[in-house]
Amino acid sequence: MSVAVAGFGVRRSSVAGGLPEDIDGLLVTAAENVRYLTGFSGSHGAVLIDRGGSGILATDGRYLERAAAEAPGVECVEARRATPALVEHAVTRGIARLGYDAGSVTVEGFDVIAAAAGDATTLVRGPRIVEALRAVKDPAELEAVSRACEITAAAFHAVIEGVGAGVTERELDWQLQAAMRANGAQGPAFDAIVAFGPHSAIPHHEPTDRPLARGDLMKFDFGACVDGYRADMTRTVVLGPAADWQRELHAQVAHLQAELRRAAVAGTLPRDLDAAMRKGLTGLGHDPLHGLGHGVGLAIHEDPFLTENSPAPPLEVGTVFTIEPGIYQPGRGGVRIEDTLVITESGESSALTETTRALLEV
Ligand code: ZN
Ligand code: ZN
Repeated sequence: MSVAVAGFGVRRSSVAGGLPEDIDGLLVTAAENVRYLTGFSGSHGAVLIDRGGSGILATDGRYLERAAAEAPGVECVEARRATPALVEHAVTRGIARLGYDAGSVTVEGFDVIAAAAGDATTLVRGPRIVEALRAVKDPAELEAVSRACEITAAAFHAVIEGVGAGVTERELDWQLQAAMRANGAQGPAFDAIVAFGPHSAIPHHEPTDRPLARGDLMKFDFGACVDGYRADMTRTVVLGPAADWQRELHAQVAHLQAELRRAAVAGTLPRDLDAAMRKGLTGLGHDPLHGLGHGVGLAIHEDPFLTENSPAPPLEVGTVFTIEPGIYQPGRGGVRIEDTLVITESGESSALTETTRALLEV
């Protein structure tokens, strides 16, 4: 199920309805936001939303056909540079105060749009309305994320089944990508982390040519992308029988991760969940090295952020996010277990990457 044309219109109306009093229009430039509001997935485009909720999409000649196919319900204009062209439209429409996307406009880009705005239109930092809307998924989005998560879990099992000593991190990264694409993914959701032995203690390790050895922990953090929507999952397993310290580390993380998944219900504040993780880890004598998790959707990291001091509002039905605590012992090894979850109608969280979290000995 893809989003019906009317669905994009509803999203644009929601943005218009959420504009603060002192802004008459919003210039949307982040690629994921443009896609969310129009369906257009090209790499060069921007959207102008006015108070009435009508949008204008601007893109260049290379993408006109694609824009017509993907975003039939929105007015499209051709422009070599989409962003200043839309600012000129805002000026023509009499928009006195135009919000812009401070997270995606560069310093150079700002100079360009300021020149286009001239004296007629004042540029102001726009509110993060689109990001807030994107945090809560509609049924069509949930279907795409769920499919991405299923493909991710299936690829994990397909790849670890054939794992043996001597294979390298890079080779397994490639096997994961191949398995995901074979099952219908358009590609990986992000650059995968495949980390053997002591590398598993590096939270964001990049795959190398290190060959797998007996007794190595193997940490896989990866995901598939389907219709632009992403999955994010981490599992840690071991080649051959696990050592006692590996079992203990894994059991601690698995226990904490399960507790945090149960605690993530509608109404909980993301920063409170992060605080619960910090308390759990320090109670076990470990330093928290990163936040608890993040939203997942058209971007791999999006609202809500489950971190210390996160301003994110309470979780609600339809929020999609990760829970990913980890314990890392430098030079020795680390364990992280991560799921992509959704808050269901019951108010509880449910893992979309639902597959075993056990310390598999392969
Ligand atoms: Zn991850
Ligand atoms: Zn993650």
